Amino acid sequence: MKKVVKFGGSSLASARQFKKVKAIIEADKTRCYVVPSAPGKRDSKDTKVTDMLYQCYDAVCAGESYKRILDQIKKRYTDIIDGLDLNLNLDFEFAKIEENFLKKAGRDYAASRGEYLNGIIAANYLGFTFVDAADVIRFDAEGNFLSEETNEEMREHLASLKQAVIPGFYGAKPDGTIHTFSRGGSDITGSIVARAVQADLYENWTDVSGFLVTDPHIVPNPETIETITYRELRELSYMGAGVLHEDAIFPVRSANIPINIKNTNAPQDAGTLIVPTSHAPASEHVITGIAGKKNFSVISIEKDRMNSNKGFLRKLLQVLENHDIFPEHMPTGIDTVSVVVNSSELDGQREKLTERLVEVVKPDHFEIIDGLALIAVVGRGMRSVKGTATRVFAALSHANINIRMIDQGSSELNIIIGINAGDFDKAIKVIYDMFILSE
Ligand code: ASP
Repeated sequence: MKKVVKFGGSSLASARQFKKVKAIIEADKTRCYVVPSAPGKRDSKDTKVTDMLYQCYDAVCAGESYKRILDQIKKRYTDIIDGLDLNLNLDFEFAKIEENFLKKAGRDYAASRGEYLNGIIAANYLGFTFVDAADVIRFDAEGNFLSEETNEEMREHLASLKQAVIPGFYGAKPDGTIHTFSRGGSDITGSIVARAVQADLYENWTDVSGFLVTDPHIVPNPETIETITYRELRELSYMGAGVLHEDAIFPVRSANIPINIKNTNAPQDAGTLIVPTSHAPASEHVITGIAGKKNFSVISIEKDRMNSNKGFLRKLLQVLENHDIFPEHMPTGIDTVSVVVNSSELDGQREKLTERLVEVVKPDHFEIIDGLALIAVVGRGMRSVKGTATRVFAALSHANINIRMIDQGSSELNIIIGINAGDFDKAIKVIYDMFILSE
């Protein structure tokens, strides 16, 4: 049995948090590969070390004074080292970092030092071997992640190590330049390590006890999701349910390794288990989660005999592609098509886009309507269960909410509904009540 454990920034923000992490690792000898984030916020007003590093590096590049912020960063680490009574001194590392900042080693290099230094501390404190992620995580010259090369390299490197700390978030390009994943990317590193060592479980330790059925800012104290499939999670996280980086599921998914989201501050809580569809138990409720996003617009097009107009949709999509607009949904009627897009993608190009669409697709009527919110009701339990859509619509209609768009994929894993952004919170509440409270 082998587990890879990734600890997020708040789990490693102070010496006190490091002590909890050590207790967790020592409580289970199979927790043998550790992926740390950089120190995160100690309280809601605090700043993440990653953000401090970006600030510091930007100041260096702008020729502004940077010493104060650099000292604050150093203090974050010395406080941890002192609080843990470690015989460790990072002066040499900091001198090197400052030198590289002055040589303009890049923003990614700057940001990556948060994880790098926290990894050195964690390895020292746990008595594990430190493995620099720059030696095992590979990107190509353009910064694309090279999954197979990385998997080989990581597998070979870790084969002889029973216990190791591999800092999250970064790797290196062929010329050795440091490159990072997008923000929150230590989750991806954890998943990559889990795949490489063929772990039985990837534990992702954070500051919440798993995924909640819906946003606690909208529904107070929603239930925690016990088990969710990778596919359900994809649907929910795309629609805004945070906690795990969107790309973190791919490496483990291909290796059928479950992910357990756990809470460093409440390790006894079961958390949420993310599993392949084939291993998923029957779900407790018909739906697994409800998520949504505001700020969508509908590009609404009407054209007589649209359905017999060869190439109509292709031409429409081509115009959108040329404007870098990504259609989220595209419900069609016989003579109408509505393209739902993120409103921000229209910024600065509404007029040009309108002109071009009118020219190419020659609609009878054309309109861009703003202020749409999308809600995804997701659940493997809704497959072939009759009446799920009815219940969603009944809940909304009783709350006097007008449905402006409906989209259900043939996988029957989700129902997407479009409503006015002003009805967003109310809609989520009534759907939650209908499916979770009343079941
Ligand atoms: N430290 C990085 C960030 O703040 C990466 C991570 O925590 O996963 O985004």
